[in-house]
Amino acid sequence: MEIRFEKREQPLEKPDQKHLGFGKYFTDYMFVMDWDLGQEWHDARIVPYAPIAMDPATMVLHYAQETFEGLKAYRTAEGKVQLFRPEMNARRMIKSNERLCMPAFPEDMFVEAVKELVRVQEDWVPSEPDTSLYIRPFMFATEYSLGVHMAKSYKFVIITSPVGAYYPEGIDPVKILVEDEYVRAVQGGTGFTKCGGNYASSIAGQVKAEKMGCTQVLWLDGVHRKYVEEVGTMNIMFKIAGEIYTAPLEGTVLPGVTRDSLIHILKDWGYKVNETHLSIDDLMKAGHDGTLEEAFGTGTAAVVSPVGELVYKDDKVTVNDFKIGELTQKLYDTLTGIQWGRLEDKYGWIVPVE
Ligand SMILES: *Cc1c(COP(=O)(O)O)cnc(C)c1O
Repeated sequence: MEIRFEKREQPLEKPDQKHLGFGKYFTDYMFVMDWDLGQEWHDARIVPYAPIAMDPATMVLHYAQETFEGLKAYRTAEGKVQLFRPEMNARRMIKSNERLCMPAFPEDMFVEAVKELVRVQEDWVPSEPDTSLYIRPFMFATEYSLGVHMAKSYKFVIITSPVGAYYPEGIDPVKILVEDEYVRAVQGGTGFTKCGGNYASSIAGQVKAEKMGCTQVLWLDGVHRKYVEEVGTMNIMFKIAGEIYTAPLEGTVLPGVTRDSLIHILKDWGYKVNETHLSIDDLMKAGHDGTLEEAFGTGTAAVVSPVGELVYKDDKVTVNDFKIGELTQKLYDTLTGIQWGRLEDKYGWIVPVE
């Protein structure tokens, strides 16, 4: 793939690495490529980060034909920059796009574009402990027309944002509202895709949770409102009587890269991992009888996010006295150790940016 490079006249000022937050600052450059019916992907370019002008009838603004991804570039103690399993994001985006009738962006081009964008602005990858460069690839319909149909043109864009430590004050367990009114996904829907529409419809649950003093929503399955699926924008795992439970990938749950990686590590450590339907009643019962030992969300942004309390209807349970569990902590240390290059990459997950 030939990538045209358009240099910025003035580099942007870099933010203070100690106060980055999440997704607040953007870097000097973005990657852009266009797709038109009959012409496929063309005009790959890395250009100065800037607004994208759109016709008011651009289809994505009306019918939400949009997908995205999220991954990070990590700076090691030696100053090297590396990615974590970027091919998994590329493959997942192809699956998302298939569901939304959008063109596939080939895996090798995806990884090359991410690498090249990070390489040309390597100085934007922060070096403070636990900071990283968040990478956001996304694609959307650019055709302008008000008819509902598969668009004839698309843009694939990658933007990057230096992000701070997710846990600047140490890992604190969160309070979770089990949502029994709104649903996130159903079989045959778009639950397994990272498409913008999924998140638009999840905000109502999030707002409700916050009103009730909770940080996140635990989503139940959309048909029976009975089986545990995901927490906020993370997959969720439970340790019950020594075994691990997480929802199976059957179309309603997002196939997280973190989920997959932690399952590998857990199995390697000899844990039994049950990818199975766990009912909320069984989960609350395990919470009350003391067999629910640990609970944690998993995702690229937080890696693991321990659950301290579950609120379901008139019932609530506290998990592990509102403290991070031993296994949760060990998983966090292991995965972040691999990502930041402190531990050996024995699974072959690291892709260096040269
Ligand atoms: C992105 C996301 C996840 C986590 O995926 P990772 O690849 O681990 O970051 C889980 N659930 C939802 C709904 C998501 O959007």
